[in-house]
Amino acid sequence: MSIQDILSKDTLSREDIIRLLSAETPEEIELIRSKAYNTMLEYVGDKVYLRGLIEFSNYCVNDCYYCGIRKSNANTERYLLSVEQVIEAAKLAAEFDYGSVVLQSGDRRDEQFIEYVVSCIKGIKDATKSEKYPEGLGITLCVGEQTEETYRRFFEAGAHRYLLRIETTNPELFSKIHPPQQKLEARIEALNTLKKVGFQVGTGVMIGLPGQTLDDLANDVLFFRNMDIDMIGMGPYLPHNDTPMGKQYETTEEIKKWRFELSLRMIAVCRIVLKDVNIASTTALQTIHPTGREEGLRYGANVIMPQITPTEYRKNYMLYEDKPCVSEFAAECHSCMQMRIASVGRSIAYGVWGDPLHFRNKQKN
Ligand code: SAM
Repeated sequence: MSIQDILSKDTLSREDIIRLLSAETPEEIELIRSKAYNTMLEYVGDKVYLRGLIEFSNYCVNDCYYCGIRKSNANTERYLLSVEQVIEAAKLAAEFDYGSVVLQSGDRRDEQFIEYVVSCIKGIKDATKSEKYPEGLGITLCVGEQTEETYRRFFEAGAHRYLLRIETTNPELFSKIHPPQQKLEARIEALNTLKKVGFQVGTGVMIGLPGQTLDDLANDVLFFRNMDIDMIGMGPYLPHNDTPMGKQYETTEEIKKWRFELSLRMIAVCRIVLKDVNIASTTALQTIHPTGREEGLRYGANVIMPQITPTEYRKNYMLYEDKPCVSEFAAECHSCMQMRIASVGRSIAYGVWGDPLHFRNKQKN
């Protein structure tokens, strides 16, 4: 079947998705990109929603083999922002009119941490309430696997979106990139629990992992569809020298190029298959290519997360090497982001939470 025939179908099969992901000629890729872009325009419009990203701590109890802030990396200087610093950063987001913030950190499950996150959520809500934001800024959490009770406490405190990447849905690959105590089933259960608690739920995968196939990525897309996911955040796998995977696998320029292009095709395929979800154009895309985030927008993404972590801490939140925006101030990231978004003919939806339409549409049905 030709790419054009596949793109005219209502529901894509696994084989169709694999065929789209394996497209190589510029003509085929452009067909996929423009179908994704038009699907985006039809289902979610052309606005870009912003979430100020606060990476509030790099302490982590997990030991993922790919991640620079894994617990065994002794070369990372650990930090935890104070609740006041987190609230100050969120106030800056409100000043810039971002509408929402994302609170992200390494995984911790101790009571002190849970209480701290609850205080940050409540503090942000109180500090950012205004005529424009009667309920304060929208808050997305990205703080890993927690118990149902903890998820409830976060939700009741006022967070309403949660990002938890599945990383890969291939059980064998999942167990190759994580220590034995981290389980794929536990991630799936956590995603189900988040939905049950009432969160708008986001997930995603790393793209171009050593040993990952197009079959795997097609299964990932079908997983997103079957799980009725509201938001997608994904990007290329990038090496970090102080990790087992960074040491084991060589990353050539050719591999980087392949990972970048495959990541863009994944964004496009997710847009075509999932239609009304929010899709982020992530920092990892900009790390692998100087205009990666703009390209993500051209392939159907509609969310960007500008950095608002206080500058002196950014260099310690190195999930992978060459992470951009580590020495800029939030105001610089703000104007850089505006320029980048405008450069691909898109405009920013200021002052709104920007919830995924998929979540609202589900509730109507
Ligand atoms: N602890 C939380 C969690 O695990 O969901 C949030 C922080 S975690 C560092 C955020 C995401 O960073 C992970 O889900 C993973 O996909 C991504 N990440 C970590 N190391 C990476 C790498 N080397 N390349 C690309 N993405 C990476």
